[in-house]
Amino acid sequence: MATKTPITIARGDGIGPEIMQATLDIITAAGAQLDIDEIQIGEQLYLKGINTGIEPSAWESLRRTKIFLKAPITTPQGGGYKSLNVTARKVLGLYANVRPCVSYSPYVATKHPIMDLVIVRENEEDLYAGIEHRQTNQVFQALKLISRPGSEKIIRYAFEYARTNGRKKVTCFMKDNIMKLTDGLFHKIFDEIAAEYPDIVNENWIVDIGAAKMADTPENFDVIVMPNLYGDILSDVAAQIAGSVGLAGSANIGESASMFEAIHGSAPRRANQNLANPSGLLLGSVMMLVHIGQADIAGKVHNAWLRTLEDGVHTYDIFKEGVSKEKVGTKQFAEAVIKRIGQNPQILKVRDYSKANEAMKLGVTAKSSYKAKKELIGVDIFLDYSGADPMKIGGDMATISSGNLALSLVENKGVKVYPNGQPVASHTDFWCCRFLTSDNKPCTYNQVHEIVGKISAAGYDVVKLENLSTFDGEKGFSSLN
Ligand code: NAD
Repeated sequence: MATKTPITIARGDGIGPEIMQATLDIITAAGAQLDIDEIQIGEQLYLKGINTGIEPSAWESLRRTKIFLKAPITTPQGGGYKSLNVTARKVLGLYANVRPCVSYSPYVATKHPIMDLVIVRENEEDLYAGIEHRQTNQVFQALKLISRPGSEKIIRYAFEYARTNGRKKVTCFMKDNIMKLTDGLFHKIFDEIAAEYPDIVNENWIVDIGAAKMADTPENFDVIVMPNLYGDILSDVAAQIAGSVGLAGSANIGESASMFEAIHGSAPRRANQNLANPSGLLLGSVMMLVHIGQADIAGKVHNAWLRTLEDGVHTYDIFKEGVSKEKVGTKQFAEAVIKRIGQNPQILKVRDYSKANEAMKLGVTAKSSYKAKKELIGVDIFLDYSGADPMKIGGDMATISSGNLALSLVENKGVKVYPNGQPVASHTDFWCCRFLTSDNKPCTYNQVHEIVGKISAAGYDVVKLENLSTFDGEKGFSSLN
């Protein structure tokens, strides 16, 4: 008898308990070896005043089992409630969101009958750190943070996923024609890591045209890896165009814990009527079984489910006269899948997880620890200035210096306006004054502070500084022109 893998489950709200029961019935019947611990999450806890939607003691179970199969929850209307997914992502360090987007034509209506792609979305970085500031009367700012270890982890994960799931190609979406440093880093690391996987085809697209191609010809994509924001948006686009939002599962993978769920919500209006389709959570549980090393069971469950779809046994949400043969409830659907365990689909692609290995269970870690030599060579000083005259602000700043550190230029909205600036249609009240060393030699923080002091003394409102450094001689800041 195989050893049982400890997992934590939560039945959630709305249709959650029904689809969780159906999922557990199916995977248990297929032979999943699980030691299940149950925790409470969701609406009742929110309403009790626990604003994270999860009992503090429940984390103990999650930290012990490290595997979370989660049904959807209802977030009560009104403010003050924290997203449970965001909290779980932060507490458990879930760096990768993996969402297969598959069409099941002709059994489920879709404009894209040949679609079988997986979006691997970075889950912790980018604009989602939520670091925002109001800088001036007119201008608000969000910080986009991309790190080398974060990018390495997600990109390596995408290639490992491709290899262990028999996928042939990994595509990278980013926008390094504009964000040369942040998205540029993501692209560079993609190229570095791709070279380690000669058996997997790699390609990259600027996200705008890549997204257009994905929405038009999704059959040309296999695994797509991307930073957080693009991944958030495009994983919904991909699930929607597959025609099967209600059928999609997703995995949130961390270095020490992972969470598996359906992508849909708790559909409260469908609750307690034996109506809901358990397929999204079931496919989430298939990803879980692969992840915990029960790949043979995962394959059995997935193939029996595909066969059920093919046999026209459908819940109300995908039932279609002429295509479907039998309209069933949640329980009967689960029974139909259980009856087909051991069978394969005849038209749809048979799923084979035999290549999935233990490496995926542990996740991947960033390897590089190289530290570049960093030298301070200047500073961008941002001012809140409501005057509209670049010559005035530029003229004043040009009189200010400290040792080898002097004004290089003034910009507004990313366009150089002094000296010899482009005439621009309009300015904001957020001005960047770039001071650089005249000889490209390093300067000191004391020089930076002296400049800030002089600017303040001249009556200007300094709102922030960004130090300008080189790393092994390479500029660590964008050019302004
Ligand atoms: P939803 O996904 O719950 O439902 C949208 C519609 O899709 C429903 O009206 C229903 O007709 C249909 N539907 C969804 N899943 C189905 C299933 N398995 N079987 C049959 N039909 C299904 O989205 P919503 O109505 O916007 O949100 C309801 C609640 O779920 C909200 O409180 C929301 O905050 C929450 N939510 C939770 C999660 C999560 O826990 N991961 C995700 C999204 C939304």
